[in-house]
Amino acid sequence: MAVKTLKDLLDEGVEGRHVLVRSDFNVPLDENRNITDKGRIIASLPTLRALSEAGAKVIVMAHLGRPKGEVNEKFSLAPVAEALSEELGQYVALAGDVVGEDAHERANGLTDGDILLLENVRFDPRETSKDEAERGEFADQLASLAADNGAFVSDGFGVVHRVQTSVYDIAKRLPHYAGELVEKELAVLEKVAKNPESPYVVVLGGSKVSDKLGVIEALAAKADSIIIGGGMCYTFLKALGHDVQKSLLQEEMVDTCGDLVKRFGDKIVLPVDLVAASEFAKDAQKKIVDLDSIPEGWMSLDIGPESVTRFAEVLSGAKTIFWNGPMGVFEFPAFSDGTRGIAQAIIDATANNGAFSVVGGGDSAASVRVLGLDEDGFSHISTGGGASLEFLEGKELPGVAVLED
Ligand code: ADP
Ligand code: MG
Repeated sequence: MAVKTLKDLLDEGVEGRHVLVRSDFNVPLDENRNITDKGRIIASLPTLRALSEAGAKVIVMAHLGRPKGEVNEKFSLAPVAEALSEELGQYVALAGDVVGEDAHERANGLTDGDILLLENVRFDPRETSKDEAERGEFADQLASLAADNGAFVSDGFGVVHRVQTSVYDIAKRLPHYAGELVEKELAVLEKVAKNPESPYVVVLGGSKVSDKLGVIEALAAKADSIIIGGGMCYTFLKALGHDVQKSLLQEEMVDTCGDLVKRFGDKIVLPVDLVAASEFAKDAQKKIVDLDSIPEGWMSLDIGPESVTRFAEVLSGAKTIFWNGPMGVFEFPAFSDGTRGIAQAIIDATANNGAFSVVGGGDSAASVRVLGLDEDGFSHISTGGGASLEFLEGKELPGVAVLED
């Protein structure tokens, strides 16, 4: 990898230098804005700790949720600053803005080893702008926080597939380095992407259907089986003629899914039963049904027990497993059995069959911990869903490519 790493930066020396770090703190929150899973915060600690201990003035950039370019208290990084302080055992100040007066004052006031967190970078519409000039202007302002002799460390693996200011454009303005997390994630995923030992089984679910349908074609060429559950499966079931009622559906992708089943039908494994719910709520009425029996006006929020058994059978013989996307709405305990069952089947294949297993995705990784499963039962838990999928597809990750020169 022709990319300089955190170690190179530390060797060059960081004492007294401002170092901008992009971390991924996009953690799940409950309705009272309590963090329900700190996985991504914990994964970011080694890089931040190393820089602080070496005497850098650390300025961290991160986003939370989708505030759509507007300042919105609901998406403030305040809960993150608090959790980060606690995990680091070191006070992390939160700037009142992203590149405003407060951020500048605080950046100027940092002493060696201090860590400052900027407010949610997505409060600024330029962060995700498609216009390079707009992003560039924002990047200049962020870079100016670092004064002379600054540096940029890219450590938000969950966002390296995005061309966004704090991930991509900023790297063109400062000497740049891959952080420990990004380096570690790439090393593990490379193992799966380059030479996956067969049988290679990919499990896909979750709710970002349009993002993920695109990867099936690329992965179908490499994997031996693709298991599909979660919010993704209903578009396939609809393509096969089933009435999915009010389940999550991507209408404009039905034909594409039908086509995928025709071409890769021998590899694609779909549910055979479902857990139907009267509404999208944790206390909804529920019923285990076959594919054609979702009651009128109901929706499916999980795969059924027979599906878990079938999926587990496929997984038990696997030597390489990649899982992205929960099998159902695991946040509601009544609809978490599918996700728990599949996670357990992957843990079993890892232990009993020597499978190399990788879980990717913010919610998938969170589900493992929230459901009380053994994190160590997997070979690797990745902090990035979209990023890891794109890497496995063989796509170039812009946030990594930009570090290469
Ligand atoms: P990841 O973050 O692991 O990449 P996604 O963000 O794509 O995964 O999807 C996670 C979300 O998908 C979870 O919040 C879960 O509640 C939701 N989900 C899973 N199955 C369904 C379903 N059948 N209907 C609606 N939402 C679902
Ligand atoms: Mg998610």
